[in-house]
Amino acid sequence: MKDALTLSRGLPLEELFVPLSSWYRENARPLPWRENATPYHVWLSEVMLQQTRIEAVRPYYARFLAAAPDIPALAALSDDRLMKLWEGLGYYSRARNLGRTAIVLCEQYGAQMPRDYAALRALPGIGEYTAGAIASIAFDLPTPAVDGNVLRVVCRLTADRSDVLAPATKKRITARLFALYEKCCRQAGDAATLTQALMELGEVLCLPNRAPLCDACPLAPLCRAREEKCQTEIPFRSPKKARKESHKLVLLLRDDKGRYAIRRRPEDGLLGGLWELPHIDLPTPSTEDGDALDRLAREFCRENGLLAAESTTLPPSKHIFTHLTWQMQGCYINVTQTEHTSRELLFVSPEELRTQYALPTAFAAYRRIIVAKT
Ligand code: SF4
Repeated sequence: MKDALTLSRGLPLEELFVPLSSWYRENARPLPWRENATPYHVWLSEVMLQQTRIEAVRPYYARFLAAAPDIPALAALSDDRLMKLWEGLGYYSRARNLGRTAIVLCEQYGAQMPRDYAALRALPGIGEYTAGAIASIAFDLPTPAVDGNVLRVVCRLTADRSDVLAPATKKRITARLFALYEKCCRQAGDAATLTQALMELGEVLCLPNRAPLCDACPLAPLCRAREEKCQTEIPFRSPKKARKESHKLVLLLRDDKGRYAIRRRPEDGLLGGLWELPHIDLPTPSTEDGDALDRLAREFCRENGLLAAESTTLPPSKHIFTHLTWQMQGCYINVTQTEHTSRELLFVSPEELRTQYALPTAFAAYRRIIVAKT
Protein backbone atom coordinates (compact mmCIF):
# COMPACT_ATOMS: atom_id res chain seq x y z
CA MET A 1 0.00 0.00 0.00
CA LYS A 2 1.26 3.51 -0.82
CA ASP A 3 2.66 5.37 2.21
CA ALA A 4 0.53 8.52 2.68
CA LEU A 5 2.93 9.98 5.24
CA THR A 6 5.75 11.11 3.01
CA LEU A 7 8.10 14.05 3.09
CA SER A 8 8.75 16.62 0.41
CA ARG A 9 9.33 15.13 -3.08
CA GLY A 10 7.73 11.89 -1.90
CA LEU A 11 10.74 10.96 0.24
CA PRO A 12 10.08 8.37 2.97
CA LEU A 13 9.72 9.58 6.54
CA GLU A 14 12.94 7.72 7.46
CA GLU A 15 14.91 10.54 5.76
CA LEU A 16 14.32 12.73 8.80
CA PHE A 17 16.34 10.48 11.12
CA VAL A 18 19.91 11.60 10.36
CA PRO A 19 19.45 15.41 10.18
CA LEU A 20 17.08 15.46 13.17
CA SER A 21 19.35 13.32 15.37
CA SER A 22 22.45 15.41 14.53
CA TRP A 23 20.58 18.62 15.21
CA TYR A 24 19.41 17.32 18.60
CA ARG A 25 22.88 16.16 19.66
CA GLU A 26 24.21 19.66 19.01
CA ASN A 27 21.26 21.70 20.25
CA ALA A 28 19.52 19.82 23.10
CA ARG A 29 18.56 22.14 25.95
CA PRO A 30 20.04 21.19 29.30
CA LEU A 31 17.01 20.11 31.36
CA PRO A 32 17.22 18.66 34.89
CA TRP A 33 15.71 15.31 33.88
CA ARG A 34 18.17 14.95 31.00
CA GLU A 35 21.22 15.14 33.32
CA ASN A 36 20.77 11.60 34.58
CA ALA A 37 17.99 10.00 32.54
CA THR A 38 17.23 7.03 34.80
CA PRO A 39 13.89 5.29 34.19
CA TYR A 40 12.55 6.88 37.40
CA HIS A 41 13.62 10.38 36.35
CA VAL A 42 12.18 9.97 32.86
CA TRP A 43 8.92 8.60 34.26
CA LEU A 44 8.52 11.37 36.84
CA SER A 45 9.38 14.18 34.43
CA GLU A 46 7.15 12.86 31.64
CA VAL A 47 4.18 12.54 33.99
CA MET A 48 4.77 16.06 35.35
CA LEU A 49 5.17 17.52 31.86
CA GLN A 50 1.78 16.25 30.65
CA GLN A 51 -0.37 19.36 30.08
CA THR A 52 2.22 21.45 31.92
CA ARG A 53 4.96 23.86 30.78
CA ILE A 54 8.63 23.02 31.36
CA GLU A 55 9.22 26.16 33.43
CA ALA A 56 6.29 25.33 35.71
CA VAL A 57 7.57 21.77 36.19
CA ARG A 58 11.18 22.62 37.15
CA PRO A 59 10.57 23.56 40.84
CA TYR A 60 8.10 20.70 41.33
CA TYR A 61 10.55 18.22 39.90
CA ALA A 62 13.34 19.37 42.22
CA ARG A 63 11.03 19.37 45.28
CA PHE A 64 9.59 15.99 44.42
CA LEU A 65 12.99 14.35 43.95
CA ALA A 66 14.18 15.82 47.26
CA ALA A 67 11.20 14.17 49.00
CA ALA A 68 11.25 10.94 46.96
CA PRO A 69 14.71 10.38 45.43
CA ASP A 70 13.87 6.84 44.28
CA ILE A 71 11.00 4.42 43.72
CA PRO A 72 10.92 2.97 47.30
CA ALA A 73 10.80 6.50 48.74
CA LEU A 74 7.92 7.36 46.39
CA ALA A 75 6.06 4.19 47.41
CA ALA A 76 6.41 5.19 51.07
CA LEU A 77 4.83 8.67 50.67
CA SER A 78 1.40 9.09 52.25
CA ASP A 79 -1.43 10.16 49.96
CA ASP A 80 -1.65 13.57 51.65
CA ARG A 81 2.11 14.17 51.33
CA LEU A 82 1.95 13.15 47.66
CA MET A 83 -0.94 15.56 47.03
CA LYS A 84 0.92 18.32 48.88
CA LEU A 85 3.99 17.85 46.69
CA TRP A 86 1.73 17.99 43.63
CA GLU A 87 -0.40 20.91 44.82
CA GLY A 88 -0.85 23.45 42.00
CA LEU A 89 0.26 21.13 39.15
CA GLY A 90 -3.32 19.96 38.50
CA TYR A 91 -4.59 16.64 37.11
CA TYR A 92 -4.05 15.06 40.53
CA SER A 93 -4.80 11.53 39.38
CA ARG A 94 -1.31 11.66 37.85
CA ALA A 95 0.23 11.94 41.33
CA ARG A 96 -1.99 9.26 42.78
CA ASN A 97 -1.03 6.90 39.94
CA LEU A 98 2.67 7.60 40.53
CA GLY A 99 2.24 6.46 44.14
CA ARG A 100 0.23 3.37 43.14
CA THR A 101 2.72 2.41 40.47
CA ALA A 102 5.67 2.83 42.84
CA ILE A 103 4.02 0.31 45.19
CA VAL A 104 3.47 -2.16 42.31
CA LEU A 105 7.11 -1.72 41.23
CA CYS A 106 8.31 -2.44 44.77
CA GLU A 107 6.06 -5.49 45.11
CA GLN A 108 6.53 -7.01 41.66
CA TYR A 109 9.65 -5.61 40.00
CA GLY A 110 12.24 -5.23 42.78
CA ALA A 111 11.67 -1.43 42.89
CA GLN A 112 12.83 -1.09 39.25
CA MET A 113 10.90 -0.11 36.16
CA PRO A 114 10.48 -3.04 33.73
CA ARG A 115 12.61 -2.87 30.60
CA ASP A 116 9.64 -3.76 28.43
CA TYR A 117 7.10 -1.55 26.64
CA ALA A 118 4.07 -3.83 27.25
CA ALA A 119 4.90 -4.25 30.96
CA LEU A 120 5.33 -0.47 31.34
CA ARG A 121 2.05 0.10 29.54
CA ALA A 122 0.25 -2.19 32.01
CA LEU A 123 1.25 -0.08 35.05
CA PRO A 124 -1.31 2.33 36.59
CA GLY A 125 -1.35 5.73 34.86
CA ILE A 126 1.24 4.78 32.21
CA GLY A 127 -0.31 5.16 28.79
CA GLU A 128 1.14 4.69 25.32
CA TYR A 129 2.97 8.00 25.39
CA THR A 130 4.66 7.61 28.79
CA ALA A 131 5.54 3.95 28.14
CA GLY A 132 7.09 4.95 24.81
CA ALA A 133 9.06 7.77 26.42
CA ILE A 134 10.44 5.62 29.27
CA ALA A 135 11.19 2.66 26.99
CA SER A 136 13.03 4.74 24.40
CA ILE A 137 14.71 7.48 26.49
CA ALA A 138 15.71 5.36 29.49
CA PHE A 139 16.06 1.90 27.89
CA ASP A 140 16.81 2.87 24.28
CA LEU A 141 14.07 0.58 22.94
CA PRO A 142 12.58 1.39 19.49
CA THR A 143 9.27 2.80 20.73
CA PRO A 144 8.01 6.28 19.83
CA ALA A 145 6.33 8.60 22.34
CA VAL A 146 3.53 10.30 20.43
CA ASP A 147 1.94 13.36 22.02
CA GLY A 148 0.47 16.55 20.55
CA ASN A 149 3.96 17.93 19.82
CA VAL A 150 5.03 14.92 17.81
CA LEU A 151 1.71 14.72 15.97
CA ARG A 152 2.05 18.37 14.97
CA VAL A 153 5.60 17.86 13.70
CA VAL A 154 4.71 14.76 11.67
CA CYS A 155 1.52 16.33 10.26
CA ARG A 156 3.48 19.38 9.11
CA LEU A 157 6.40 17.40 7.70
CA THR A 158 3.99 15.33 5.64
CA ALA A 159 1.38 18.10 5.03
CA ASP A 160 -1.21 15.77 6.52
CA ARG A 161 -4.54 17.55 7.06
CA SER A 162 -6.29 14.84 9.06
CA ASP A 163 -7.96 15.92 12.31
CA VAL A 164 -5.02 15.84 14.74
CA LEU A 165 -7.36 15.20 17.68
CA ALA A 166 -8.97 12.13 16.09
CA PRO A 167 -7.82 8.81 17.63
CA ALA A 168 -7.49 7.35 14.10
CA THR A 169 -4.88 10.01 13.20
CA LYS A 170 -2.83 9.25 16.28
CA LYS A 171 -3.08 5.51 15.66
CA ARG A 172 -1.91 5.86 12.05
CA ILE A 173 1.01 8.16 12.88
CA THR A 174 2.07 6.02 15.86
CA ALA A 175 2.11 2.88 13.70
CA ARG A 176 4.19 4.69 11.07
CA LEU A 177 6.67 5.90 13.68
CA PHE A 178 7.03 2.39 15.13
CA ALA A 179 8.08 1.24 11.66
CA LEU A 180 10.50 4.18 11.35
CA TYR A 181 12.11 3.41 14.74
CA GLU A 182 12.51 -0.27 13.77
CA LYS A 183 14.28 0.69 10.55
CA CYS A 184 16.43 3.58 11.76
CA CYS A 185 17.39 2.86 15.38
CA ARG A 186 20.27 0.44 14.96
CA GLN A 187 22.97 1.84 17.23
CA ALA A 188 23.12 2.50 20.96
CA GLY A 189 21.42 5.78 21.82
CA ASP A 190 19.50 6.11 18.54
CA ALA A 191 16.02 5.57 19.97
CA ALA A 192 16.68 7.78 23.01
CA THR A 193 17.93 10.54 20.71
CA LEU A 194 15.10 10.25 18.20
CA THR A 195 12.34 10.44 20.82
CA GLN A 196 13.85 13.48 22.47
CA ALA A 197 14.69 15.11 19.13
CA LEU A 198 11.07 14.87 17.94
CA MET A 199 9.86 16.34 21.23
CA GLU A 200 12.49 19.09 21.17
CA LEU A 201 11.70 20.11 17.60
CA GLY A 202 8.02 20.51 18.53
CA GLU A 203 8.89 22.52 21.61
CA VAL A 204 11.46 24.96 20.25
CA LEU A 205 10.95 25.29 16.47
CA CYS A 206 7.80 23.64 15.13
CA LEU A 207 5.68 25.65 17.58
CA PRO A 208 1.96 25.27 18.31
CA ASN A 209 -0.62 28.02 17.68
CA ARG A 210 1.78 30.24 15.74
CA ALA A 211 4.10 30.25 12.75
CA PRO A 212 6.89 27.68 13.17
CA LEU A 213 10.51 28.83 12.98
CA CYS A 214 11.22 27.05 9.70
CA ASP A 215 14.35 29.04 8.86
CA ALA A 216 16.13 27.42 11.80
CA CYS A 217 14.67 23.94 11.28
CA PRO A 218 17.02 21.08 10.37
CA LEU A 219 14.16 19.40 8.48
CA ALA A 220 13.22 22.42 6.35
CA PRO A 221 14.46 20.86 3.08
CA LEU A 222 12.30 17.78 3.74
CA CYS A 223 9.14 19.49 4.98
CA ARG A 224 6.04 19.33 2.78
CA ALA A 225 4.10 21.95 4.74
CA ARG A 226 6.94 24.42 4.25
CA GLU A 227 7.14 23.56 0.55
CA GLU A 228 3.39 24.06 0.17
CA LYS A 229 3.42 27.13 2.48
CA CYS A 230 0.65 25.72 4.64
CA GLN A 231 2.49 25.41 7.98
CA THR A 232 -0.03 27.54 9.88
CA GLU A 233 -3.01 25.55 8.53
CA ILE A 234 -1.60 22.36 10.04
CA PRO A 235 -2.31 20.66 12.40
CA PHE A 236 -5.97 20.68 11.43
CA ARG A 237 -8.53 20.36 14.24
CA SER A 238 -12.27 19.81 13.96
CA PRO A 239 -14.22 22.58 15.72
CA LYS A 240 -14.44 21.99 19.48
CA LYS A 241 -17.68 21.50 21.37
CA ALA A 242 -18.53 24.30 23.82
CA ARG A 243 -17.27 23.69 27.36
CA LYS A 244 -19.97 23.00 29.95
CA GLU A 245 -20.46 25.39 32.85
CA SER A 246 -21.17 24.53 36.45
CA HIS A 247 -22.06 27.14 39.11
CA LYS A 248 -21.05 26.80 42.75
CA LEU A 249 -21.23 28.64 46.04
CA VAL A 250 -17.91 28.07 47.86
CA LEU A 251 -18.08 28.34 51.65
CA LEU A 252 -15.27 29.57 53.88
CA LEU A 253 -16.55 28.25 57.21
CA ARG A 254 -14.37 29.56 60.06
CA ASP A 255 -14.87 28.17 63.56
CA ASP A 256 -14.21 29.83 66.94
CA LYS A 257 -10.59 28.64 66.91
CA GLY A 258 -9.83 30.23 63.53
CA ARG A 259 -9.89 26.89 61.70
CA TYR A 260 -11.54 26.36 58.30
CA ALA A 261 -13.71 23.50 57.10
CA ILE A 262 -12.47 21.23 54.32
CA ARG A 263 -13.85 17.91 53.11
CA ARG A 264 -12.87 15.03 50.84
CA ARG A 265 -14.27 14.78 47.35
CA PRO A 266 -15.74 11.41 46.29
CA GLU A 267 -13.10 8.97 45.02
CA ASP A 268 -14.62 8.79 41.53
CA GLY A 269 -14.79 11.62 39.03
CA LEU A 270 -13.22 15.05 38.74
CA LEU A 271 -10.52 15.76 41.37
CA GLY A 272 -11.44 12.37 42.90
CA GLY A 273 -10.43 11.89 46.54
CA LEU A 274 -8.85 15.34 46.97
CA TRP A 275 -9.56 17.76 49.80
CA GLU A 276 -11.75 20.72 48.86
CA LEU A 277 -13.54 23.69 50.37
CA PRO A 278 -17.18 22.80 50.96
CA HIS A 279 -19.48 24.17 48.30
CA ILE A 280 -23.03 24.00 47.07
CA ASP A 281 -23.99 23.33 43.45
CA LEU A 282 -26.14 26.18 42.16
CA PRO A 283 -28.71 26.03 39.39
CA THR A 284 -27.52 27.31 36.00
CA PRO A 285 -27.67 30.22 35.42
CA SER A 286 -27.06 30.92 39.09
CA THR A 287 -28.40 33.75 41.20
CA GLU A 288 -26.13 36.64 42.13
CA ASP A 289 -28.56 37.82 44.79
CA GLY A 290 -26.47 38.08 48.00
CA ASP A 291 -29.46 37.37 50.28
CA ALA A 292 -30.31 34.18 48.38
CA LEU A 293 -26.69 33.00 48.58
CA ASP A 294 -26.61 33.81 52.30
CA ARG A 295 -29.78 31.73 52.82
CA LEU A 296 -28.20 28.79 50.98
CA ALA A 297 -25.01 29.04 53.05
CA ARG A 298 -27.02 29.06 56.31
CA GLU A 299 -29.06 26.11 55.16
CA PHE A 300 -25.81 24.21 54.50
CA CYS A 301 -24.63 25.08 58.03
CA ARG A 302 -27.91 23.88 59.56
CA GLU A 303 -27.81 20.61 57.63
CA ASN A 304 -24.21 20.02 58.74
CA GLY A 305 -24.73 20.78 62.44
CA LEU A 306 -23.06 24.18 62.51
CA LEU A 307 -24.34 27.36 64.17
CA ALA A 308 -23.88 30.20 61.71
CA ALA A 309 -23.10 33.80 62.78
CA GLU A 310 -22.45 36.75 60.48
CA SER A 311 -21.52 36.15 56.85
CA THR A 312 -19.81 38.11 54.10
CA THR A 313 -20.17 37.70 50.35
CA LEU A 314 -16.83 37.06 48.63
CA PRO A 315 -15.76 37.99 45.08
CA PRO A 316 -16.60 35.50 42.32
CA SER A 317 -13.95 33.27 40.80
CA LYS A 318 -13.69 31.02 37.77
CA HIS A 319 -11.69 27.88 37.02
CA ILE A 320 -11.40 26.25 33.60
CA PHE A 321 -10.91 22.48 33.37
CA THR A 322 -10.44 20.73 30.02
CA HIS A 323 -14.16 20.14 29.39
CA LEU A 324 -15.80 22.18 32.12
CA THR A 325 -15.80 25.66 33.66
CA TRP A 326 -16.61 26.26 37.32
CA GLN A 327 -18.21 29.67 37.90
CA MET A 328 -17.87 30.22 41.64
CA GLN A 329 -19.33 32.64 44.10
CA GLY A 330 -18.14 32.70 47.68
CA CYS A 331 -19.45 33.21 51.18
CA TYR A 332 -17.37 33.70 54.35
CA ILE A 333 -19.22 32.68 57.45
CA ASN A 334 -18.28 32.37 61.14
CA VAL A 335 -19.59 29.15 62.64
CA THR A 336 -19.65 27.24 65.90
CA GLN A 337 -19.34 23.46 65.87
CA THR A 338 -21.92 21.42 67.80
CA GLU A 339 -22.17 17.78 68.81
CA HIS A 340 -24.10 17.28 65.55
CA THR A 341 -21.42 18.72 63.27
CA SER A 342 -21.01 16.51 60.22
CA ARG A 343 -18.00 14.19 60.35
CA GLU A 344 -17.44 14.89 56.68
CA LEU A 345 -16.15 18.33 57.62
CA LEU A 346 -12.61 18.58 58.92
CA PHE A 347 -11.59 21.89 60.53
CA VAL A 348 -7.93 22.71 59.95
CA SER A 349 -5.79 25.75 60.78
CA PRO A 350 -4.45 27.94 57.95
CA GLU A 351 -0.97 26.60 58.84
CA GLU A 352 -2.16 22.99 58.44
CA LEU A 353 -3.77 23.98 55.17
CA ARG A 354 -0.48 25.43 54.03
CA THR A 355 1.71 22.51 55.04
CA GLN A 356 -0.39 19.34 55.12
CA TYR A 357 -3.56 19.51 53.05
CA ALA A 358 -3.48 20.07 49.29
CA LEU A 359 -6.38 21.98 47.77
CA PRO A 360 -6.93 21.90 44.00
CA THR A 361 -5.99 25.08 42.11
CA ALA A 362 -9.70 25.59 41.37
CA PHE A 363 -10.01 26.96 44.93
CA ALA A 364 -6.90 29.17 44.76
CA ALA A 365 -8.80 32.48 44.95
CA TYR A 366 -10.60 31.40 48.14
CA ARG A 367 -7.50 29.89 49.64
CA ARG A 368 -5.77 33.26 49.20
CA ILE A 369 -8.59 34.86 51.20
CA ILE A 370 -7.94 32.42 54.06
CA VAL A 371 -4.24 33.28 54.00
CA ALA A 372 -5.00 37.03 53.91
CA LYS A 373 -7.29 36.75 56.94
CA THR A 374 -4.67 34.90 59.01
S1 SF4 B 1 10.17 23.25 8.37
FE1 SF4 B 1 8.82 24.39 9.72
S2 SF4 B 1 6.84 23.36 9.62
FE2 SF4 B 1 8.39 21.96 8.78
S3 SF4 B 1 8.99 20.69 10.54
FE3 SF4 B 1 10.44 22.39 10.43
S4 SF4 B 1 9.58 23.96 11.78
FE4 SF4 B 1 7.95 22.47 11.37
